[in-house]
Amino acid sequence: MEIVWKQHEHGTDQLTDLLDKDDYQGATFEIKKEERYNFVSSKHPEEKVNVTVGDPCFENPCSYESVEKVFDHIRDLTGLTDNSKVRQWTMLGCDGLPYTLGSRTIENVSVCQDCKMEFDEEANFKDHIKQNDHCKELSANDCRKYNNIVMIPGLGHYEINMVKVLIKLLWDIAVFDLAKMLGFHSPKALQSFQNAGDHHKSWQSLMIFMHSMAQELLVPYCRQEVKKNANPSLTGYFSYLNGATSSNYKFMSEVVFTYCLALHVFRAGIRRDNSTAIQAGKVKFSPLFFGFNMPFYMETFIRDSFVRVQCPPEVLAFIGANESYSASGHDSKREGGDFVLENINRKSKMWMPSGLPDKKKWLEVYCNIDRLDEVQDHMYNIQHLQPADDECVHANRKLDKDQLILLQSLEEDISYICGMDFFPDDHPLQKINQVHLAGGKAKY
Ligand SMILES: [Zn+2]
Repeated sequence: MEIVWKQHEHGTDQLTDLLDKDDYQGATFEIKKEERYNFVSSKHPEEKVNVTVGDPCFENPCSYESVEKVFDHIRDLTGLTDNSKVRQWTMLGCDGLPYTLGSRTIENVSVCQDCKMEFDEEANFKDHIKQNDHCKELSANDCRKYNNIVMIPGLGHYEINMVKVLIKLLWDIAVFDLAKMLGFHSPKALQSFQNAGDHHKSWQSLMIFMHSMAQELLVPYCRQEVKKNANPSLTGYFSYLNGATSSNYKFMSEVVFTYCLALHVFRAGIRRDNSTAIQAGKVKFSPLFFGFNMPFYMETFIRDSFVRVQCPPEVLAFIGANESYSASGHDSKREGGDFVLENINRKSKMWMPSGLPDKKKWLEVYCNIDRLDEVQDHMYNIQHLQPADDECVHANRKLDKDQLILLQSLEEDISYICGMDFFPDDHPLQKINQVHLAGGKAKY
């Protein structure tokens, strides 16, 4: 907490000087976007992770049956069913519901090694081996069908749920007013804010709440120290906190310095791939999952803690060293595997025709995603276009005839690869074409 505070102070130097003045509108924050999580150390040097996508599995893992189908698909895909034993373990990251169902499935589904019969309930399996005198030399663990899959909760989804529960806790107390101050006025906008519909906005709002409320909480303590001609310090603040009598003050300091700070440290741990910080954030935050009765995340937290205690040291080391990834190789921009996959999903959707895509389209796009990326880069290069981000493209020059012909043939290639009869209207490349059809005037 001391380090977080120092960094925060560093970024708000100009604010602290002006704290007692009425007008501190001109103050600016100095921390650069990519430096704000540097208070947590990064375990690895910058490294670009090679992300490969396999064939998608068309199951929604929200029942035991569908989770088993997904497991079978992943076992085939990662070579766990193959006898050459190239791989011993597969780490499988997911959201709270599939995590819980999946962990129970791993515990319950057994295969008799003698007659290859499958059992969904552990009790039935035990009856079977007793009655038939099978699997005499083996323990129950050896007969588990999915024993070599290790479930890990997806950090991105974990964070989404932390944000949701924190907004629930603080809605009536402070966040309702904060939302209105931030411009969410209509009942619909407020409802969406309360449901944490946009994770990025909710996250930013909570950070505004944490930093500003932390400063408010420190004002009375700092005033007291100034009166005594003493220097404020972290230990001094904690003794001040112990002596605080106002229940509102105590509540708010717990909210800010325990739960909001846990969320901040959790995010910093993810961005820097620091397992200790991630675990510290999870543990400090966990009472809220229980307090708000979120059964899947309660179970996820407990099971995840057990896995980390019970798994062999080399598996634990592997989990710790691979909590988060950066597809770009930036050491402060890592994210959980679930969000790396979401990015790929989003990118794939760009190549799909509008409307509900069928399985064939998904497969075609997923099998060709790298090639499609290359084609897109090539099209940008031809036109000297810089994609500002994935969704925004600025056209700055007209194409000559040859380039237009090339562009059209590339478009045909893409349509062929994706099996599309037409380009979706909302696709960035379609926008480029529209720009050129409009004579380079339109701007997207
Ligand atoms: Zn048997």
